[in-house]
Amino acid sequence: REAAAWDTRFEEARTRCGHRVEVAANLGNTIHAADAVERGAEGVGLLRTEFLFMAHAQEPDLATQIDEYREALDALDGRPLVARTLDVGGDKPLPYWPMPKEDNPFLGLRGIRLMLTRPEVLETQLRALLLAAAPVPGKPRPLRIMLPMIKDIAEFRAARAIFDRLLEEIPEAERASDVQLGIMIEVPSAALLAPALAAEVDFFSVGTNDLTQYTLAIDRDHPELSAQADGLHPAVLRLIEMTVTAAHAHGKWVGVCGELASDPMAVPVLVGLGVDELSVSARQVPLVKARLREFDLEKARTQAGLALAQATSTAVRDALEVR
Ligand code: PEP
Ligand code: MG
Repeated sequence: REAAAWDTRFEEARTRCGHRVEVAANLGNTIHAADAVERGAEGVGLLRTEFLFMAHAQEPDLATQIDEYREALDALDGRPLVARTLDVGGDKPLPYWPMPKEDNPFLGLRGIRLMLTRPEVLETQLRALLLAAAPVPGKPRPLRIMLPMIKDIAEFRAARAIFDRLLEEIPEAERASDVQLGIMIEVPSAALLAPALAAEVDFFSVGTNDLTQYTLAIDRDHPELSAQADGLHPAVLRLIEMTVTAAHAHGKWVGVCGELASDPMAVPVLVGLGVDELSVSARQVPLVKARLREFDLEKARTQAGLALAQATSTAVRDALEVR
């Protein structure tokens, strides 16, 4: 199976009935973009830019960031790059940013909340991304900028104000022409408020790792409990369903970039819920594409309905297993 998946890795992934789902790669380091393409990724669905910031003794300056993002865009050769703005705090401190001691770092200053306290850092990063994706003659460079840990529209608007100012300020020829600004859905409030958010964002990408953690109130890294932090929990699936419904009502696309996207049992469920893109580790790209080719949309919708009707994640897995 693995050999067959590898041989067809460059083909688009379509379900048996022809429904297309994009399969992209999650990346920690831009030097791995070329490898992701070699493994059949149709783009980068999540660039975790925190690794770039952690690799330096201080915040990487504008030029350093431009070089880095350009490297990924060059390797992607016209495929889209979904770059997440710096997502630190919580379990991922930046050594050179002194943080207040927090009793609950996962509920503290992290993601977009932290960045909005340092708007100049967010601005430099957005500027670097926009400049790095400036068009090269004959080659589109689609750039999707994604904001982590958004809980409501106020945070999105605060970040978008900076983004909009940069679009005005940077001459058009010098910056990305094909650019979208979207958010991660990884805080339950954002999924619950998806209808309002969908009207203003360009896309959603569901971060099932954090969404599961915050929905079930289980630390995703807890030594004893993390096995229970299963994204196939019906409560998480309902939030994903709400997200997709809201997005599609506004003509926006939805990806999933958490671990759940590469779970073979979850793939048909996510497709049945209407997810448009799956972003997984580069190594998993050929397998997820192969998995998508094994079922049709009708079956996926049945699986999604069945999963949503269960009461626990164990019941979901049992119900999907027998089919
Ligand atoms: C997630 O939360 O699902 C996600 C993709 O982001 P990270 O794992 O980097 O928190
Ligand atoms: Mg996350």
